[in-house]
Amino acid sequence: MKHWNGLNWVLLLLLVLAGSVAMARFIVPGKTERQNAVGSLSGLSADMRRTFSDDVAFSQIPKPGPGDWLSSHKEEGQTYRQFVSSRPNIPQGARRKLYIQPFGKFDPEKAPAIKVLREYTEAYYYPMQVVVLPSIEPPHIKSRINGGKKQWLTTDLLNALEERLPTDAYSMLGLTMTDLYAGEAWNFVFGQARLRARVGVFSFARYHPSFQGGEVKDKEAVKRLVLKRAAKVLTHETGHMFGVKHCVHYHCNMNGANHLQEADASPIHLCPVCLRKLHLAVRFDPVARYEKLKKFYQKYGLKEEAAWVEKRIKKIEGK
Ligand SMILES: [Zn+2]
Ligand SMILES: [Zn+2]
Repeated sequence: MKHWNGLNWVLLLLLVLAGSVAMARFIVPGKTERQNAVGSLSGLSADMRRTFSDDVAFSQIPKPGPGDWLSSHKEEGQTYRQFVSSRPNIPQGARRKLYIQPFGKFDPEKAPAIKVLREYTEAYYYPMQVVVLPSIEPPHIKSRINGGKKQWLTTDLLNALEERLPTDAYSMLGLTMTDLYAGEAWNFVFGQARLRARVGVFSFARYHPSFQGGEVKDKEAVKRLVLKRAAKVLTHETGHMFGVKHCVHYHCNMNGANHLQEADASPIHLCPVCLRKLHLAVRFDPVARYEKLKKFYQKYGLKEEAAWVEKRIKKIEGK
């Protein structure tokens, strides 16, 4: 988390080529630390206790290697209790919808269908409503060419989103296939969000292997990979909108990632700590939420994810 102009809290998300900073080595938390991060479950119903309990379905966060996020970023973490104390934006009053604003053109060969991403976000953030706005060409956005590819400046896109934020929006996320940069010092960024301002912008430019000149042999497998990457980043960034910081407790969708390989290795699911934070915000029924996710994973051929969710449903139902 970084401060931007001393005003907005800005998270530079999933950054690549962040300057390496000498820092203390990250210590992988054990079971006791993980349980402390979830917080006391006494007073909760039996199924809610099972929802937020340590379970074999959740994995320990891997020890970061050189170049990984936790080797180059000092993350303080955020326990459930710290999340509550941070007084996050909770959906209330008129602000209850998650908006998606596409910018520019989306090549159907290289990008996942936005309506599929809408479907996923609605399952993940159930029972929030997700609205996709018609794609627009953003006005007055500073751009540059880097490595032969066009890049848009995130600051200008975020300003454009802030100006357009609908009165019933809990948050608004901009999506684009154009590569992004966050200032001259940056090579590129996958995305950037302003937590308190409820806006974020993310690019899918780098998710298709062809961006790096990679070959595509199995079209269906690549399609699933691109969908998974986009679905992950979209739900990760939306998590930040809910005030959830990077997770240091488990291997989790809210982990920071320095490069695509690290992002690919992290699960699409939320760990019990992050799940409990989301529950405070949107009050989902855990089984109903997992059922919606299962349906999605089955529909789009994400078999491992469907099986994982199935296991969790059985666990919560005490089977
Ligand atoms: Zn992040
Ligand atoms: Zn987590």
